Amino acid sequence: MATTPTPMMEQYLRVKKSHEHCLLLYRMGDFYELFFDDAVTAASCLNIALTKRGQHKGDPIPMCGVPHHSVDQYLAKLIEAGHKVALCEQTEDPADAKKRRGSKAVVNREVVRILTPGTLTEDSFLNSGQSTFLSALGYAAGKYAFSWIDLSTGKFEVQPLPHPMAIADLEAILAQIDPGEILISDALLENPFFSEIFSAQKTKLTPQPSSRFSSTAGESHLKKTFGLSDLRVLGGFSRAEISAAGALLDYVNLTQKASTPIIKRLHQNLRDTQLNIDAATRRNLELSRALDGKRAGSLLATIDRTVTAAGARLLSDRLAQPSADATIIFARQDSVAYFLERPKLLQGVREHLRSLPDIARAMQRISLGRGGPRDVLAMAIALKQTSALRKKLNLADDSAPLAKELSSCLDDLGNFDALASSLTEALQDEVPVMARDGGFVRPGFDIRLDEQRALRDKSRILISELQTALSAQTGISSLKIKHNNVLGYFIEVTSVNASKMGEANEAGFIHRQSLASAKRYTTIELTELEQKIRAAAERSLVLELEIFDNLRDSILGNAESLIALADALAVLDVSSALAQLALDLSWVRPKIDNSECLEIIDARHPVVEAALAKTSGEDFIANSLNHTSQDNIWLLTGPNMAGKSTFLRQNAILIILCQIGAFVPAKSAHIGLVDRLFSRVGASDDLASGRSTFMVEMVETATILNQATSKSFVILDEIGRGTATYDGLSIAWATVEYMVTKINCRALFATHYHELTALAERLPTLSCHSAQVKEWEGEVIFLHKISSGAADRSYGIHVGKLAGLPAALIARAQDLLIRLEKDKSAKTALEDDLPLFSLTLPNVQATEGSPAIKKLAGLDVDSLSPREALDQLYELKDLASR
Ligand code: ATP
Repeated sequence: MATTPTPMMEQYLRVKKSHEHCLLLYRMGDFYELFFDDAVTAASCLNIALTKRGQHKGDPIPMCGVPHHSVDQYLAKLIEAGHKVALCEQTEDPADAKKRRGSKAVVNREVVRILTPGTLTEDSFLNSGQSTFLSALGYAAGKYAFSWIDLSTGKFEVQPLPHPMAIADLEAILAQIDPGEILISDALLENPFFSEIFSAQKTKLTPQPSSRFSSTAGESHLKKTFGLSDLRVLGGFSRAEISAAGALLDYVNLTQKASTPIIKRLHQNLRDTQLNIDAATRRNLELSRALDGKRAGSLLATIDRTVTAAGARLLSDRLAQPSADATIIFARQDSVAYFLERPKLLQGVREHLRSLPDIARAMQRISLGRGGPRDVLAMAIALKQTSALRKKLNLADDSAPLAKELSSCLDDLGNFDALASSLTEALQDEVPVMARDGGFVRPGFDIRLDEQRALRDKSRILISELQTALSAQTGISSLKIKHNNVLGYFIEVTSVNASKMGEANEAGFIHRQSLASAKRYTTIELTELEQKIRAAAERSLVLELEIFDNLRDSILGNAESLIALADALAVLDVSSALAQLALDLSWVRPKIDNSECLEIIDARHPVVEAALAKTSGEDFIANSLNHTSQDNIWLLTGPNMAGKSTFLRQNAILIILCQIGAFVPAKSAHIGLVDRLFSRVGASDDLASGRSTFMVEMVETATILNQATSKSFVILDEIGRGTATYDGLSIAWATVEYMVTKINCRALFATHYHELTALAERLPTLSCHSAQVKEWEGEVIFLHKISSGAADRSYGIHVGKLAGLPAALIARAQDLLIRLEKDKSAKTALEDDLPLFSLTLPNVQATEGSPAIKKLAGLDVDSLSPREALDQLYELKDLASR
């Protein structure tokens, strides 16, 4: 049976139709309700009850709801599960709706915000030390560009993706920024290149109509956002860059509705000024995440000594995008050195920074109209700390001037003393999250507010006096005046005493409610007092909200300089944190220039060193690398487990540390700046995209050979291992030749193909080095020391033994190795030797003399009782496992 929807349902369906891709949270009084499929999805995701309400087209309407005051926790779960949520609020007072359209009137409602994974601003939804980016792929005039914005702080960037590197660059940027959400036009998504690149990011994709990527529309979004009549003021952007950045601004408008976020000036990233790191290298080197996807065990986790959330985000961003600009790196090094030379100043600055709230995010919430008293208080606390910091840095001026980066921070710390005191004077020390809760303005700040509060307090005292009087009048000592949200103030007596109230009826008691154990009343006097209290509270709240708006405006009036301040504080935190790191671990300042030199003396791998200290307490053995233009490719051989991979990675990591402006774990370092860093270190299957281990290895190698330049640094660990020996050796051989003759980059190449060492005689810039071991009483000791010269063996079987391969297998492998080494042809050495293992216990030395075998041989099985047999069995097992 078809039924006409109620007016409210009609309104709901209308709103839902224009927000089809979102879960619609529809405000009804104190709850947000969800209906139909949204309710089914949300109830299961949030683990809340699914009920029914009314009917639609003859069927009950599924419904669930969450209380408005705790909506944040539910929103967080929905977003985490990958949903987008539209928040639909009542935009008028129900009383006004009634006045307009009678008692059946439906209050106006509007979607005030759309929450998506890339547009979050609340602390409860975000990781404090990590930026969450909304990103977009733009396309115009045959070119591509990628843009990204952190809406919680307003950081806004764009990078052109020039042909023919567009795809490779896009993959690298995706790995660099790890966006929370990616906008892409429907048309581009149909392009197989892009659908393949984004196949691993499907849950993050938000397809949009192509019209939203129009560069003409983008231009007007950019002009409007930055209040410009000509975009050239921002710098020279291509149409593709404008398309990408414009699509982001459009989406921000779409999701934030009427609220205006702070958006920082669009910054153009150019490959030439960066150390470019592709996705595989970033993953292999475990820069911000270890291979298991967690932060622990990554380089970032090991070096992060920042004490503020903004500092942690900046360090993470710098590590994601090291610089290749000597001036920038030098300035950063200077600021680290400045603190390092002044340990007392360093401690003082870090002490002040430690108590700094996250003002970048607080500012954004304030700007978006989502900020509460706590955000304003955060600004007040930060400004106070800033004033102290400014003095510290100013006073620090001994003979040497402040490092350039620090003195620019000092300028940006500005003088906000007046703003700081006006905020501190206005606010209590402890304030609620929401302004609508009131009670956050300090007594004495506003005389009108104090009067209303006095009236409220006076009426409260009068109520307390009224309770004493009524208690005396009725003779009920337990009579109480209480308050709840439904009845307001009321007089309560126990049921036993209720009869006395009846007698006192002439005294004007009006019955309100009967409970099993109590009866509740009011009087005209109590009602009047209550009205006075309520009126005073309402007036107080209006005044407090007015004061809050003024405080907010005074902050927003200084927005530009406060944003610069927030950025300066983050820089101070990173500089001082890197100084602390260098101080704690005795790291040194690397010398940098644009040469092709790489001279890294007695260096350590910071993550492996930290892991060794934590687990075995063993010292890390320092190693050196010395690349010159006459000797820039090292071929590294040596046993398994000897430290080759660690050496390769450690040098790549030191280059990265150097180019973020940090000091490095070495005795000394001279680093000719690197434009691109590549690593091919052990691959795994990429089954999702249909690539086998060997295919992944070849794709990564091809990327390196196609993109590396003479300014690049490459580490190749074991290429050609995933195929037949001679295929692999040939590929490895040709790769080394290609790198030396065609690219001439700096490289480290670790291999177990000892045949390759012959190349050193033919290729002048290639030299052989090896990881050392010592053999002692049949055991191999890893020295983890890299020295010049080639190794002759790999000791793989020995490592297999250490790993616990069965003794019989090890013995057999040793036997085979001896034969293979005698006759290099595997076929002739092995063909008369099958089957490899007989089914009986192998007659090999490893088991022959074993105590377990001896014991077994000596057992008289027939004479054993079942109990004795079991005991013997235990004993044998014990002997065998020794
Ligand atoms: P394979 O050829 O089997 O890949 P490898 O030669 O690459 O081995 P690594 O993986 O680099 O060896 O190192 C093995 C282990 O040895 C590391 O996990 C680390 O614990 C230790 N190690 C490596 N280098 C050092 C060092 N310089 N000082 C102390 N310990 C080290």
